[in-house]
Amino acid sequence: MAKRILGFLKPNIELQPWDGEVSTLDPPDRVILSISQPGQMPFKPVVEIGESVKTGEFIAMSPSRTGIHSSITGKVSAIGPGYNREGREVLCVTIDRESDDDFAAPHPVQNLVAASRDELIEAFAELGFASPWKPRSLESQLSEEEKLPITTVVIKAVDEEPPLAVQRRFLTEFAEDFSESVAAIRKLAQDARVVVVVPEEFASRARTLLKDVEIFPVTNDILDCNNTLLLLKITRKFYPFHTDPRADGIIILSAEDVAFAARCLHKGKPRTNKLITVSAPDLPKPVTVRVRLGTPVRFVLDSLNIQLKSNDRVVFGGLLTGIAQPDIETPITRTTNGVIIIPKEKVIPFSDAPCINCGRCVQICPVNIQVNLVGRFSEFGLFETAVKNGSGSCVECGLCAYVCPSRRPLMQYMQFANSEFEKIMNQVSQEGV
Ligand code: SF4
Ligand code: SF4
Repeated sequence: MAKRILGFLKPNIELQPWDGEVSTLDPPDRVILSISQPGQMPFKPVVEIGESVKTGEFIAMSPSRTGIHSSITGKVSAIGPGYNREGREVLCVTIDRESDDDFAAPHPVQNLVAASRDELIEAFAELGFASPWKPRSLESQLSEEEKLPITTVVIKAVDEEPPLAVQRRFLTEFAEDFSESVAAIRKLAQDARVVVVVPEEFASRARTLLKDVEIFPVTNDILDCNNTLLLLKITRKFYPFHTDPRADGIIILSAEDVAFAARCLHKGKPRTNKLITVSAPDLPKPVTVRVRLGTPVRFVLDSLNIQLKSNDRVVFGGLLTGIAQPDIETPITRTTNGVIIIPKEKVIPFSDAPCINCGRCVQICPVNIQVNLVGRFSEFGLFETAVKNGSGSCVECGLCAYVCPSRRPLMQYMQFANSEFEKIMNQVSQEGV
């Protein structure tokens, strides 16, 4: 996975090839569906506690009419605060399963090729696809950012770090859905660039499968798959912390979100599933499974006969930037690509041990931050100094913390400095200083 030559060159960490079918887990006993995101306008619940809901029924609606749907058939047992994988409070709807799936009435769009652009936009919104193209009827209600034209659509069919093997599969197992959806996106994007990022070994297959889009092959080196570094190569512009590529009309979509769009439009049913790669000592190798959105991770582990022992870590995400979860009821969301179980004897905890100035973090940082120094500024609350010395350029690859012999939480120090500095700047602008 990691290669280093003679101890001099930067180690590179690569995604691994995968094999094995995607299996589907049974529906869980309960789902917990987040209907808000920190810093964004919350969706409005359209169900009440005690109400019965069908699979695919609306449970919440956003101001721009994108819906969130139930992923099982059951009864709403709670509407209230929960936590996302970063531990930030979000509003959640909990549904306890009562029976096999009873699907809400479908609204299929059979012929994606013949459907007009407006029909596609309406259908995407109705089926909960987080589409950047909004129905004309909502134009007066859109924010200034939502009204900005889209100039570049980047579709990522690559995973970001090992052991994840989710997005790459949409060029193989789910290629038909993916190519139909890319054609629909091509229509929606009109004159905008549509760039599909693929592993280099699939480039020729992608060129045959996907029409009228740019194919952007990348290697399996994780730095080739990092969002910020990818955008730099595709757009020639660096979008560090504090900058939003949407302001320049650029959006990034995952291959999975895109592929589900065609499947949902054909069936007229909203998306209820998510693919995740699960890695655990109880498994001979990582497996990729399909689960219902909102499934508590506890249910995933039980279904795969994974026994958690006291103090084992449950990590959402990949090897380098995954986040440990304090609670096994944390649900799988649309952005959960993987679950890794790290047995307690293999957990190497972060520490506040002093930096020994070995220089490994500086050597490995792809954007040449003096990570050892900037980490210390952040550690001691000198956030402005940290930002002035480059923390805002961090692309959150996690390599510095991975190589640090003192186990310092270096990427987290960058994130901490950036978010604290942002808070300070917001306060200053609110006070009009
Ligand atoms: S996570 Fe570390 S190595 Fe990666 S860009 Fe940020 S500071 Fe550099
Ligand atoms: S890798 Fe860790 S110990 Fe080495 S210079 Fe960087 S912060 Fe210091």
